[in-house]
Amino acid sequence: MKKRLLLVLLLPAFASARQRDLVSYVNTLQGTNSKHELTRGNTYPTTALPFGMHTWTPQTGKNGDGWKYQYFLDRIRGFQQAHQCSSWTRDYAVFSMMPVLDSLVVDEEKRAARFSHKNEVGKPNHYRVIFDNGIATDIAPSERGAHLRFSFPKGRKGFLVLDGYTGLSQVSIDVKARKITGYVNNGAGFKRGWKSFFVLYFDKPFKAFGTWENQKNTLQPGNDNASGRGRGAYLEFAPGQQVQVRTASSYISPEQAELNLKRELGTDKRIEQTIARAAMVWNKQLGQVLAEGGSKEDLETFYSCFFRASLFSRKFYEIDAAGKPVYFSPYDGQVHPGYMFTDTGLWDTFRAQFPLNALLHPTMHGRYMQAMLDAWKQCGWLPSWSFPSEAGSMIGNHAISLFADAWAKGIRTFDPAEALKAYAHESENKGPWGPANGRDGYKEYESLGYVPYPQVREATAKTLEYAYDDFCGYQLARMTGNKAYQDRFGARMFRYKNVYDPATRFMRGKDKNGKWNSNFDPAEWGGAFTEGNAWHWQWSVFHDINGLIDLMAGEKNFTAKLDSVFTEPNRVNVGSYGGMIHEMTEMVMANMGQYAHGNQPIQHMVYLYNYGGQPWKAQYHAREVMRKLYNATENGYPGDEDQGQTSSWYVLSALGMYSVCPGTDEYVLGSPAFKKITISLENGKKFIINAPANNEKNVYIRQAKLNGKVLERNFLRHSELISGGVLTLDMDEKPNTGRGVAVATRPFSVSTFTP
Ligand code: CA
Repeated sequence: MKKRLLLVLLLPAFASARQRDLVSYVNTLQGTNSKHELTRGNTYPTTALPFGMHTWTPQTGKNGDGWKYQYFLDRIRGFQQAHQCSSWTRDYAVFSMMPVLDSLVVDEEKRAARFSHKNEVGKPNHYRVIFDNGIATDIAPSERGAHLRFSFPKGRKGFLVLDGYTGLSQVSIDVKARKITGYVNNGAGFKRGWKSFFVLYFDKPFKAFGTWENQKNTLQPGNDNASGRGRGAYLEFAPGQQVQVRTASSYISPEQAELNLKRELGTDKRIEQTIARAAMVWNKQLGQVLAEGGSKEDLETFYSCFFRASLFSRKFYEIDAAGKPVYFSPYDGQVHPGYMFTDTGLWDTFRAQFPLNALLHPTMHGRYMQAMLDAWKQCGWLPSWSFPSEAGSMIGNHAISLFADAWAKGIRTFDPAEALKAYAHESENKGPWGPANGRDGYKEYESLGYVPYPQVREATAKTLEYAYDDFCGYQLARMTGNKAYQDRFGARMFRYKNVYDPATRFMRGKDKNGKWNSNFDPAEWGGAFTEGNAWHWQWSVFHDINGLIDLMAGEKNFTAKLDSVFTEPNRVNVGSYGGMIHEMTEMVMANMGQYAHGNQPIQHMVYLYNYGGQPWKAQYHAREVMRKLYNATENGYPGDEDQGQTSSWYVLSALGMYSVCPGTDEYVLGSPAFKKITISLENGKKFIINAPANNEKNVYIRQAKLNGKVLERNFLRHSELISGGVLTLDMDEKPNTGRGVAVATRPFSVSTFTP
């Protein structure tokens, strides 16, 4: 009777959605076989809902280690609440739980249990592992919590250890209510005194309980309350039971944590309900792009990447008792009404991850634009690396790229005058935190027209990205009729020309006296560049490729140099790094010359052939990169995944397009990875990419038609996608060297643009 009722309750939702089981293609273990010296993604098996506030993962690494889960290790020491963007950052608001068999062991090294991957399944809606000792653990996510189940072998004593992780924590055990509440405040980047409040409900009574601390691993049996560094709790259950735990967290208050749990997991008596609901949420999300006509491996790679592209930036708001969004600000430590998002490095994600969000999630993206302005008001600076507050890491002031891109794509949720004012401040000052908190070298950029090296670190990379950001400021000002800012930023957007050396035909480091840096080697990493060399940074003129072609003395030289990137030896000069960094090793391993897809600077490069009259080479190389450098396994990425960016490159590329210049409304054409792709847009319209003859050989576009009319140009407009329609691609195994070559076919360059 009960079972029947459950079915009746669940069926209508399943039936109405008519969903395909796309979540089953996803492997959350993709990219987890990573270590400091070599990255295959630097991911962990994120068990979460799309853009969820708290995620859960198994933990193989020590408390506090950035490498949470490494595929080549065989012991898990806990299952933890996680938020980390990449292994290079330390997580925040973490606590963990670990099931222990037969006798109580709390020490994180000694309690670790052996497992093998054949007993592990990583899906976004359901992570499951069975340890060699027989304990099974299941995890299913909600947006701000999780439902876990620990199944102990028959007749054996079962314990659960709650670890307070690094930093201060507090736990209270309520035996009668079968509940633990408390908080953690590990992690950097918050105002002092912030807390992540958690609540856990257990469905089985406690046989025994106590608290402990994880520095000396001392126990306090029978104690029900403890606070201090690394304080945790432990519970014993009757032998051989299945113990379900429902948990949620809040940055606002213990009461809000309870509310989050009640709202998200209140009715889920059994974990199967949570697993099924999370599957529905993911199938709806992933169903926004229905890919057909590829191999099972292709679908697994596509949907695994699409999953990773759908995690960042995270929702950082909660829903209060009145049903209104409200958030604890990591910037000023106050609670505010409205939406907040965090956990993203804009240096990575302005390129494709945010453009993908703008296409598929305009409502959420509009809220994010407002959240960036709120962050600016609370923090004094626009976000550049939010984790969860402003870290100022990497280079550039790319918040303006997001604003300009959103506006170009019809998102009107923010005041453009405020965004321009914030950007003016951002780009003409330097903040106290990192190189991207304000603008490093802004004075020299203004007085010399470029950032000098060695006077300023990574100066040429900075000049290039500042000039692009200035274009975005110009573009937003132009689109919104703000003449003063249009002129002010427009005067700076061609400064990329000041770091181009016509003698070597490379972007180069130049000192404050205007002298090029000596002993130039285009294969030398670092110095005037960021995590790359002159081969990689040559192309960072997103907004004016036509201007770059002119600098390089014409398109013949330009396309020849694009070719050379792939044909040069994959030699590394470690330069100012003094030794191999993982990005260098990854470029060598990829064996595609100087093409270094494992890092961001070059990720748009293959699409630039469209600007030089050789679109077929963009089609060829885009497919080669997809085929050679991505798969759905633990080795599935060519380098750091980076908060959805490297995944979003794949998702857009698999659609046959890429956002070369965010801040414009164009998607530059490549070659799709499937025979048919249906994009279901938020406005209810569908855009279909139909390429029936597509396969591994037929990677070239012989002819393109948009809604039945021949499409000669090498880009699509955002308005064309969101109006719905059909792009028909006639695929061939030979390049059509006559299609898309005329000047009129080329994508946006600001130097040839007439409004
Ligand atoms: Ca990177």
